[in-house]
Amino acid sequence: MATLRFQALHETLHRKPILVIEKEKRSGIFGTQVFNKKQMRQHLTTEALKSVKDAIEQGSKINRKIADQIAMAMKEWALSKGATHYTHWFQPLTGVTAEKHDAFFHTINENEGMERFGGNQLVQQEPDASSFPSGGIRNTFEARGYTAWDPTSPAFVYGTTLCIPTVFVAYTGEALDNKTPLLRALQAVDTAATAIAKYFDKNVKKVNASLGWEQEYFLIDRALVNSRPDLVMTGRTLLGHSSAKGQQLEDHYFGSIPTRALSFMRELEQECLVLGIPIKTRHNEVAPNQFEIAPIHEETNLAVDHNSLIMDLMDKIALKHQFKVLLHEKPFAGVNGSGKHNNWSLKTNLGVNLLSPGKTPMSNLQFLTFFVNTIKAINDYEELMRAGVASAGNDHRLGSNEAPPAIISVFIGKQLTEVLKELEGVTTGKLSPKEKTELKLNVVGKIPEILLDNTDRNRTSPFAFTGNKFEFRAVGSNANCANPMTILNTIVAKQLKEFKIEVDILIDTKNLKKDEAVFNVLREYIKKSKNILFEGNGYGEEWIAEASKRKLSNNRSTPEALKAKISKKSLDLFQEMKVMNEVESKARYEIEIEEYVMRIRIEGRVLGDIARNHVIPTAIRYQNLLIKNVAGLKDLYGKEFKNYAKEQLGIIEKISGHIEAINSKVNAMTSERKIANSTTDLDHKASAYCNQVLPLFEEIRYHCDKLELVVDNELWPLTKYRELLFTL
Ligand code: ADP
Ligand code: MG
Repeated sequence: MATLRFQALHETLHRKPILVIEKEKRSGIFGTQVFNKKQMRQHLTTEALKSVKDAIEQGSKINRKIADQIAMAMKEWALSKGATHYTHWFQPLTGVTAEKHDAFFHTINENEGMERFGGNQLVQQEPDASSFPSGGIRNTFEARGYTAWDPTSPAFVYGTTLCIPTVFVAYTGEALDNKTPLLRALQAVDTAATAIAKYFDKNVKKVNASLGWEQEYFLIDRALVNSRPDLVMTGRTLLGHSSAKGQQLEDHYFGSIPTRALSFMRELEQECLVLGIPIKTRHNEVAPNQFEIAPIHEETNLAVDHNSLIMDLMDKIALKHQFKVLLHEKPFAGVNGSGKHNNWSLKTNLGVNLLSPGKTPMSNLQFLTFFVNTIKAINDYEELMRAGVASAGNDHRLGSNEAPPAIISVFIGKQLTEVLKELEGVTTGKLSPKEKTELKLNVVGKIPEILLDNTDRNRTSPFAFTGNKFEFRAVGSNANCANPMTILNTIVAKQLKEFKIEVDILIDTKNLKKDEAVFNVLREYIKKSKNILFEGNGYGEEWIAEASKRKLSNNRSTPEALKAKISKKSLDLFQEMKVMNEVESKARYEIEIEEYVMRIRIEGRVLGDIARNHVIPTAIRYQNLLIKNVAGLKDLYGKEFKNYAKEQLGIIEKISGHIEAINSKVNAMTSERKIANSTTDLDHKASAYCNQVLPLFEEIRYHCDKLELVVDNELWPLTKYRELLFTL
């Protein structure tokens, strides 16, 4: 009967953890497969080394002769690591990474071969890229795109392949990937932040945005996943009654890590370290079978590459341990979904974190400057920030009563709220010496050097200040961080650019001292950004009402949220900051909205299939058993039989009711899908899928889940929640 389910359970219960041995200290294996600065120092000429360093630090070009030298050194190093192939590794707009491998091997004549790799192959390639999404940028006659080496992210050997991080652009110049706009945004924030940091320290030459992501995921036995067509096809369970026990006892969070999971983690961590991903933290998350992995923060471009890489690694290593990693934002109803917190800060080339309060009033004024400007940026572009994390999967978190809400707000904690209140009262124009002293001592001077106040943390806030960084918690577990990081760094860049203009005007025309001018502008920003600050419970009904009074957006679905990406305000922003031109912005919008439609469409088909091919036939089979039983009772007891068959008759009737309901709802869903598919307008299509097709999922699920409760457990073909979530 339900053979696949029981076979899978049997396999799972008999699995043994794979022993993972660590022969060497972790510091000893760190970065051994990466062509990093240490390797470059050993393998490159002084001239080539300087050229790469300049490219990384100042964005200067590397000439062909030097590129040849670097390629040669890289090849020798890669061969010594056992590499046979090389690939330009890039991040097309599918959100995942792409690679096409070429062998170093080359023939000299019919008898001889050699390993070859030159500057040309290192610097640029032309993958046949016509099947990657381009949102109309590349029409068929211009179906060409090329990948170009990104020297700011070091090459690495993964397996037997030398992977070279690259950008992916069309021949017409438009970006076809996630990395190119990110690099431009990082450039913009560097320029704008450096100019401001110079107010406080003339020696600052560069500002890097740092990113420390925290990746949440579920770990489920591979056989169990394979027994569920919905998990296989969509990454989430489209039906399944919740088990009697879920996460209510909170006995999983930070609990002892199951041995099988720990073995997987240890191998994953080793693999990460070897590839230069500085993994630091692992723990159980709130939901059963849910975990988190987090590295030490790094420069944002590198951190984004490392997150993309780890998502791939997780998949591969999980299979070795007979697991499947679920990165979907909401694989199971009724228990927490998964996110990817993006911890963000700005650091100067002198090692100063601009979002960390310092020892002196002056460094605290610098901190306040970046702090308030960030808040103002979020205030002005909250809707775009929401758009940056929109996806079909993430709608189950942001659109429902789960952490964090779809309304973007900023949490700063009690102490800093006080500080901002005081700053708001600063006199306009010139400050008296007494006032200045007062400010320095009692306002700026009052900020404690260490703000990492754990008691003050608000876990329901989508964007929280946590001591020396902001933490963007609305990012989906499956997302490529490049998208939200491009937006965040662009809006902060734009804000800092404006700040500089305003401060300079006050200095030049009103004859104010620099710190007076800074205080004056910050005061106005604090007044203007009040709406975005919220310290209360982000899940509460009251907040929804309050936020709407404050005119904050509450875009609960992806089609609604994404519109902010192509508003005039956003198009102008990206254009002005040279991050994306209008064509690039619109192309991304189109790709994302199309992806949304495709995901819901696939889910609808899978749900329809499971309801019709698994659930209804099983219910009928069980109903037939009951009917046979009732017929037998009738033979036995004659007219009296009803006294002995009450339960059976009741269930027979219930089953018919649910079958009928499933049938009619699946029919309704199919026709809504057909209607939606017949529209060519992408926006209409997306909202039809969102508002007409999607709501039927819940109704179909309701009846299927009711059947799961009545049908004989032995017959039920789909692995149940309690089996998926409590068998590790
Ligand atoms: P949690 O949020 O789970 O309590 P922490 O606040 O200690 O944990 O840090 C979580 C993440 O924040 C880590 O991935 C770490 O790399 C990152 N992080 C710490 N400091 C910074 C910083 N200055 N800039 C960016 N990320 C940071
Ligand atoms: Mg965190």
